[in-house]
Amino acid sequence: MFEVSFLFWQSRLTSRIIEAFVSETSSILDQQYSSYAFSTGLSDADSLFIGKIFKDKDEMVFTLRMFAVKHNFEFHTVKSDLTRYVLHCIDENCSWRLRATRAGGSESYAIRKYVSHHSCDSSLRNVSHRQASARTLGRLISNHFEGGKLPLRPKQLIEIFRKDHGVGINYSKAWRVQEHAAELARGLPDDSFEVLPRWFHRVQVTNPGSITFFKKDSANKFKYAFLAFGASIRGYKLMRKVISIDGAHLTSKFKGTLLGASAQDGNFNLYPIAFAIVDSENDASWDWFLKCLLNIIPDENDLVFVSERAASIASGLSGNYPLAHHGLCTFHLQKNLETHFRGSSLIPVYYAASRVYTKTEFDSLFWEITNSDKKLAQYLWEVHVRKWSRAYSPSNRYNIMTSNLAESVNALLKQNREYPIVCLFESIRSIMTRWFNERREESSQHPSAVTINVGKKMKASYDTSTRWLEVCQVNQEEFEVKGDTKTHLVNLDKRTCTCCMFDIDKFPCAHGIASANHINLNENMFVDEFHSTYRWRQAYSESIHPNGDMEYWEIPETISEVICLPPSTRVPSGRRKKKRIPSVWEHGRSQPKPKLHKCNISLSPKN
Ligand SMILES: [Zn+2]
Ligand SMILES: [Zn+2]
Repeated sequence: MFEVSFLFWQSRLTSRIIEAFVSETSSILDQQYSSYAFSTGLSDADSLFIGKIFKDKDEMVFTLRMFAVKHNFEFHTVKSDLTRYVLHCIDENCSWRLRATRAGGSESYAIRKYVSHHSCDSSLRNVSHRQASARTLGRLISNHFEGGKLPLRPKQLIEIFRKDHGVGINYSKAWRVQEHAAELARGLPDDSFEVLPRWFHRVQVTNPGSITFFKKDSANKFKYAFLAFGASIRGYKLMRKVISIDGAHLTSKFKGTLLGASAQDGNFNLYPIAFAIVDSENDASWDWFLKCLLNIIPDENDLVFVSERAASIASGLSGNYPLAHHGLCTFHLQKNLETHFRGSSLIPVYYAASRVYTKTEFDSLFWEITNSDKKLAQYLWEVHVRKWSRAYSPSNRYNIMTSNLAESVNALLKQNREYPIVCLFESIRSIMTRWFNERREESSQHPSAVTINVGKKMKASYDTSTRWLEVCQVNQEEFEVKGDTKTHLVNLDKRTCTCCMFDIDKFPCAHGIASANHINLNENMFVDEFHSTYRWRQAYSESIHPNGDMEYWEIPETISEVICLPPSTRVPSGRRKKKRIPSVWEHGRSQPKPKLHKCNISLSPKN
């Protein structure tokens, strides 16, 4: 008798503890859910009440399933037809039940009867939840796949659902959940073009001063789109005038190419300026991109473009930027040499020649190449030395010898290359928002007057050479600096040194540091404004603002009437390259189109 009642109380106690635990985790989950509900346009799943209205059956079923997953119970569907939807708790004797009916003549459903109390024992509830279908769970976590985030692996998903949602799923289900979430996050390529004019309009509202262009063909089909955020357009004015331009192929349904133009900030980080998505990389698309870029970056004598050696880039630049210098990416050129002169021992000599600072050093290295391999020397000569040598560059390239700047954008986009157009722009936006925020914080916390990476470079040259140098002061500005093998002349007033590094890098070389220290001055005084922490902070003082949920956009009629159709000619035939396992829900019953979108944009046309 005693034993029975003890067990009874123990079981009551356990279920109380579980309930308390569930309600506590619920409040944590609430925050996640409310942001989720906001992003999907669903109402807060937590508040079910008589009279609550759902937009349509799909939204109702999803909301109720999420409610069950969240509150750790299961229901079974007693009735589901064109007008009624009736649910009971899985425990036949439990009091929880819900009845919703369709409002006459419309798609919407309303809750008519609702008993929220459970009389069943929550401790007996099953962790392998029947409402937790791969489809529902995929929708729940699709925000984990948005905005350039690395996709979650099935093992991570198993852990998230176990810890955050109390739902146990096996590996194969986790795989289907992941596939489904990624599919939702990617959105629907066909519809993405239609959203573009509105998304662009929205960028100009949320980010004043932004520049967007898009071009369609005579049949209103998409051709090119160009985007530059106001904050980075204004920030460019603080940058050194060296622009890396590059292209990356997209793997979305419509293929196409992403073009990008970037500068480098005073801390040697990539500073993205403009992007374009074009049907393919050719003369016409590069010409269009550079014409758009002229609105942001004017053509000037001291402007330098760095790119790979491609005929369409060269002709685009000579047509649109006749004054600017066109430098080649020394890394791309090295790859060309490795193909044409396989196994040549002179390639490292070429590499050194491209990077040395003085013409004397360059001449002696190039002489070495000419003496050993006339053909290679001829090839390098025909590419034009001024295009690949720092010492002979007619305009200052500083440390920017490669277009890897633009390539690091490509690396970031690797995960997102298969996204449709608006999603791709949205993921670029999201990465830039993050970069601007992180760098704003980093620069505001940096105590020195000189940026982090310039400070590091100067410390390295101090450690490796400055301390071994002997300085003789000539007058107030000039110094003679003697090393083991060479003697250099420094002018602190003009910020020059015969090693040319001070002149080109725009911060003191080892000899400059030695000279400054010789007269008890801090070397930071001789660092160019470009590398000051003040200017670095200025470059990120503004933010890149998100566009928000499409549901809340106010779009003028002139914009919403703009038609932008997908470029049908680019659809590749045959099956898609990427292997994918169709999720269970794709078979059998016809399913409504997923309305979620990787960038929280509902793709159904706005009413
Ligand atoms: Zn129940
Ligand atoms: Zn020097």
